[in-house]
Amino acid sequence: MHDVLRAALEPVLRDLRRTQTEEPVVYDSSWANDLPDQPAAMVGGPTGARGVSVLLADDEATRVASAADQVQEYVIESLLTAPTNWPPCPHHPETHPLEAHVVDDVAAWVCPRGGGVVAPVGGLSSPGT
Ligand SMILES: [Zn+2]
Repeated sequence: MHDVLRAALEPVLRDLRRTQTEEPVVYDSSWANDLPDQPAAMVGGPTGARGVSVLLADDEATRVASAADQVQEYVIESLLTAPTNWPPCPHHPETHPLEAHVVDDVAAWVCPRGGGVVAPVGGLSSPGT
């Protein structure tokens, strides 16, 4: 896997490890549309897989947020053991998941309802801690 893609995926996978029992497998793939400036891989598990890719032209924070967003989509759609609101918003745990955005040049999990930055991507804490 491309080092840049691996680095972009690492924080969100760390968050998954810390908050879920089931971590998707990330593996190399050769998409037909795997472009030299857009390294791609697959995230998968027992119930399916999807592609993730980042743009080399983006800055690091944007790549991390983008990778987090794509992995989050996979987790919500495919991981049966994951809540459909992963990662849950601590301010509104029943309502919506957090969203990955770049805030002050850092990829962060943000409450989409005005609750602000909850944690940097890769910095989520375990449930109940
Ligand atoms: Zn919220």
